[in-house]
Amino acid sequence: MPKVIDAHIHLSERRDDALVRFAEMNSLTYTLEGLLESMRESSVRRGLLLSPPMKSGAPLPNEKVIELCRRSGGLLSPVVTVEPSAKEVKAAIRLAEMERKEVKAFKIRLGYVKASALSPTFEALYDYAEAEGIPVMFHTGDTVTSTGDLAKSHPLTLDALANLREELTIVLCHFGNPWFEDVAELIYKHAKVYADISGLTTGGGAYPDKFAGWLARKISEAIYFAGGPEKIIFGTDYPITAYSDALDLVRRLDVDDGDREMILWRNAETVFGL
Ligand SMILES: [Zn+2]
Repeated sequence: MPKVIDAHIHLSERRDDALVRFAEMNSLTYTLEGLLESMRESSVRRGLLLSPPMKSGAPLPNEKVIELCRRSGGLLSPVVTVEPSAKEVKAAIRLAEMERKEVKAFKIRLGYVKASALSPTFEALYDYAEAEGIPVMFHTGDTVTSTGDLAKSHPLTLDALANLREELTIVLCHFGNPWFEDVAELIYKHAKVYADISGLTTGGGAYPDKFAGWLARKISEAIYFAGGPEKIIFGTDYPITAYSDALDLVRRLDVDDGDREMILWRNAETVFGL
């Protein structure tokens, strides 16, 4: 089995975690042990851990994410979720300073929070991320809740930010699903804009096989358009997508094995400095 880095994992071990229903749908043991076991089974050597949303709507506190990473024996590295307020931005920067060797990225939950990518409240965060070379991941596209704000999570809103901040490394999560072509253009146009392919399937739906084929065509075409796979990063969005389904999507891509390897781990290693 090829080496894999999963750049998008959620876990909390809390019962009020809003992603528990996905874990049940995918028959996953949604605990640290269960996750590490799944990773070992699929040759996943490293993973980035992000806050899952709680049933209250708030993300799991970043300190808990760091604690879970500590318990993972070096397999998981934390991503600090940043909510849109001056206080939260300050706290996120302080935490990243304290855990400078551990924190691999920041995450902004576009579509779930009231702010947009260009909100002035994030300025200090972008300044810090740019100066320290820490990527900022953005939720883009479909939201798991029906009350999400798609105008704010649309991937094209990141074009203006990338224009303003050429030194900022931006990762668009979920390939802007379903706006794959918009993301193809963004990763082609901007030198420091990347996209992950996490959370695109949930194991259900009326035509799971045809849907997986459709997704694979969309991502393959984005690779042809962008002129290569250098900007595309593997992720599961565990427990939303099981490893078997996420890896199946990469297997279905109509690209050569060297390109598959870049998507599975090489690109993540470079972008996140793993
Ligand atoms: Zn996610």
